[in-house]
Amino acid sequence: MKNSYAKEKWSFLFLSILSLLVLIVSIILLWYLISPRLESISPFLCLVVKIILFLFLITVSGGLSLIVLSSALEKDFLFPHGEKQITMKVLFPINHILGKIFGFTKDQIRNSFIEVNNSLFRATQKRIKKDRLLILLPQCLQNYDCPYRVTTNIGNCHKCGGCKIGEILQLGEKHDASVSIATGGTLARKVIVDKKPSVIVAVACERDLSSGIQDAYPIPVYGILNQRPYGPCVNTQVDFEKLEEAVGLVLDGSSSLHKAR
Ligand code: SF4
Repeated sequence: MKNSYAKEKWSFLFLSILSLLVLIVSIILLWYLISPRLESISPFLCLVVKIILFLFLITVSGGLSLIVLSSALEKDFLFPHGEKQITMKVLFPINHILGKIFGFTKDQIRNSFIEVNNSLFRATQKRIKKDRLLILLPQCLQNYDCPYRVTTNIGNCHKCGGCKIGEILQLGEKHDASVSIATGGTLARKVIVDKKPSVIVAVACERDLSSGIQDAYPIPVYGILNQRPYGPCVNTQVDFEKLEEAVGLVLDGSSSLHKAR
């Protein structure tokens, strides 16, 4: 299992390295096209643009090298900077285009991105503040036939065992963590603004998790994919053991981290 997780992680890292090469070639080409014109307008302007492009490439290349090292070895080479964001923001869209060319589905790329994110989470785990943990769940985890409205107030859950929400609430109570349900990205952002968590363990599908991880930055998010035995968005499931392990990882860096992927 560990090898398959590592393989998933490397799909995204491989695409990122390839994206970086595409970016470097594009910038060199752009420079080749515009530099004579800039030089004729102003040699100073030409120098400024050259320095800006050079610094941009150094930042993205340096950031990516640190991400690959941190992700592969699960050691914190990102300290004390957060290069992850700028590099991921720049490379993520190119990764999607290249991924399509190489025959990856969108969900495979997102899944791999989530694995990279989780490996970086483990790498930087010692620096993460654990005082306000939020467990964020998708609405589709609730039993479709449940009569109680838990989206507006999760306290309405009667913990009847009809779905995992009751059990997760108990897990939150045990560890003094907030538990919330979000019906989509907008509500998830609102929950984050209201609760001001220092760290999040989120359960969702590939699409919502990958966008949520990026939206929540700089708050670290550990992502757990939901399971969809009845198709998307209805009576979805989560592996409770994985969730419990992820909470353990966040709160005390428990040694069973790899199981929580
Ligand atoms: S545990 Fe029971 S009461 Fe709570 S949300 Fe699930 S089905 Fe509804």
